[in-house]
Amino acid sequence: MTDTTAAGNGAVGSASGSLIEMFERGLDAPICLTWELTYACNLSCVHCLSSSGRRDPRELTTEQCEAVIDELQAMQVFYVNVGGGEPTVRPDFWHLLEYAVDHQVGVKFSTNGVRIDPARARYLASTDYVDVQVSLDGATAEVNDRVRGPGSFDTAMRALDNLAAAGFRDAKLSVVVTRHNVPQLDEFKRIADEHGATLRLTRLRPSGRGADVWDELHPTAAQQRELYEWLVRAGENVLTGDSFFHLAGFGEKLPGLNMCGAGRVVCLIDPVGDVYACPFAIHDTFRAGNVLTDGGFGRVWRTSELFARLRAPQDGGACSSCRFYDVCRGGCMAAKFFTGLPLDGPDPECVQGHGEAALADPRRAVPAPGQDHSHRTEPRSRRAPGPVPVRIGRRPDPAAPPASPCVESPLAGFTTSTER
Ligand code: SF4
Ligand code: SF4
Repeated sequence: MTDTTAAGNGAVGSASGSLIEMFERGLDAPICLTWELTYACNLSCVHCLSSSGRRDPRELTTEQCEAVIDELQAMQVFYVNVGGGEPTVRPDFWHLLEYAVDHQVGVKFSTNGVRIDPARARYLASTDYVDVQVSLDGATAEVNDRVRGPGSFDTAMRALDNLAAAGFRDAKLSVVVTRHNVPQLDEFKRIADEHGATLRLTRLRPSGRGADVWDELHPTAAQQRELYEWLVRAGENVLTGDSFFHLAGFGEKLPGLNMCGAGRVVCLIDPVGDVYACPFAIHDTFRAGNVLTDGGFGRVWRTSELFARLRAPQDGGACSSCRFYDVCRGGCMAAKFFTGLPLDGPDPECVQGHGEAALADPRRAVPAPGQDHSHRTEPRSRRAPGPVPVRIGRRPDPAAPPASPCVESPLAGFTTSTER
């Protein structure tokens, strides 16, 4: 799962061998570091990989975030992917962005566009080392809002319009590929081109709330073929975060690293400072440590037992006899884990059909979610990707206290040192 990120060093321990062998053994610093700054979000996307909605009261303070950035600078991590939740709803977001850039850590942040007004777009256009990735999961409001919520298509398009009008060059239009938007791939490309942006397609994983909707939303086998052929035909200037390497099982290797980088070149820092092997693997099984309690990010990256295990030579397990193993490598660890499949077996979306057989195994047990910061509006088990329900209840009594501050605002009670 890599695309435009960069880090400074060689393999941990040794730098000999091919590039891919070097990556498999792990680097001194991650190439693709994602940092989720907050679980707070104004939206409730049905497939949110981190089950975001409400902030966590333990989220890192401004000073703690600055210390992480100082460490990334010392480790020569030149670039960090910032996400959430919606990172721009953190009151100190713009301060942290400037702090990172001032410390030679470039920032690419993902946003639903809610705070990208004309003034912010002009500010962003004036910065160096900042990239903006606007999320859109349908090329029409009908398709997008079904997944991301009412009004979210207009919000994202307004942000893209503002960035283009301000002269921001090469924003990213980030699309999670689903059963409903595969027919819109050309439309997404057109929207990106019209805004001077680059299309970025990523794979839907059954992580976070995505686990609840994966069965209904992940592309069909026929659509996987359609996506693969589209990428081969039209994907030259399309980023994929290297997330579709399982499609190489159709025959032709797609551009990219074509390996699972979890804990080797990829990792996640979550809003409370926990470090996970991959942004799509937020579960205790893949938690390597914490930046506050385990001696800092660099120490976790270098010394975690989990990461040492992931960097050790792997045999292909059940996939090792597959003739596509060299390019597919059994697919995505997170997708296997959260669908209850063995990690040394085929990907649930194996294009040779072995995933479907594995998913049909009655002994399959899907792991419970690691955490849930969803807005408390509906029980997790009842959420579904159908039309977003609109409820008209009784008008609240203005004199009554809120049931919980977080129900009123995902940022309730959130203070940072810059506000003091
Ligand atoms: S677990 Fe999946 S998403 Fe994460 S690095 Fe591996 S292949 Fe990529
Ligand atoms: S059997 Fe394994 S290696 Fe072969 S295509 Fe399927 S997931 Fe990939």
